[in-house]
Amino acid sequence: MRVADGAASPPPKNSWSRQARLEEVLPYAKRFKVPGIDIEGLVRATQAVWEYPMCDRDPLPRWSHGRVTLLGDAAHPMYPVGSNGASQAILDARCLADALAKAEHPMRALMLYEQDRLPKTAEIVKVNRVGGPERVIDAVEKLKPAGFTDIDGVLSYKEREAIVKGYATTAAFAVKDVNK
Ligand SMILES: Cc1cc2nc3c(=O)[nH]c(=O)nc-3n(C[C@H](O)[C@H](O)[C@H](O)COP(=O)(O)OP(=O)(O)OC[C@H]3O[C@@H](n4cnc5c(N)ncnc54)[C@H](O)[C@@H]3O)c2cc1C
Repeated sequence: MRVADGAASPPPKNSWSRQARLEEVLPYAKRFKVPGIDIEGLVRATQAVWEYPMCDRDPLPRWSHGRVTLLGDAAHPMYPVGSNGASQAILDARCLADALAKAEHPMRALMLYEQDRLPKTAEIVKVNRVGGPERVIDAVEKLKPAGFTDIDGVLSYKEREAIVKGYATTAAFAVKDVNK
């Protein structure tokens, strides 16, 4: 559920373990209909409901300050979709290690690392606000909100693959990038 429009600050730190109110959750639980499962009943029977806030930050203009640079979540906190976050931190580390090994001066390495990784991760932060490869589910639901019997009649394999592979390329998960 969307609780802020992005203009407000993220929730305070202690709200990562804050209990939610049942009446806040119920309208959303009621939207889910799964044959054979009483989702509303399950939620009502739950003793405690907890919040799981998702928030990110706008991309920073720079990461490096003198001999200090940022990496991973400190550099580019993003919505946890598309199996990202840790994956991007690993790609940062790989890039930084390569730059440190090759550059004539460590501070030059920080600059080269930032030039390479900042625009790429900024793109993922923005793309993740719309969703990861699971956007394919949204696309299908939009076209056939009442359900379907043959997925190929809704969105072709090629179209579904384009959504998933497009995200994989942005996030550098494409096979050609991973096997570099
Ligand atoms: C529920 C959940 C599911 C996730 N699922 C995925 C997933 O499937 N795939 C994926 O790629 N990513 C996933 N992520 C995101 C991923 O966990 C983070 O992006 C990743 O851990 C970031 O790594 P990091 O090293 O930048 O930061 P962190 O892992 O947060 O490491 C920072 C470290 O610094 C320490 N620290 C903080 N302040 C200080 C200090 N002053 N002095 C010393 N140490 C300090 C902290 O204790 C911490 O150990 C998930 C995250 C969550 C919460």
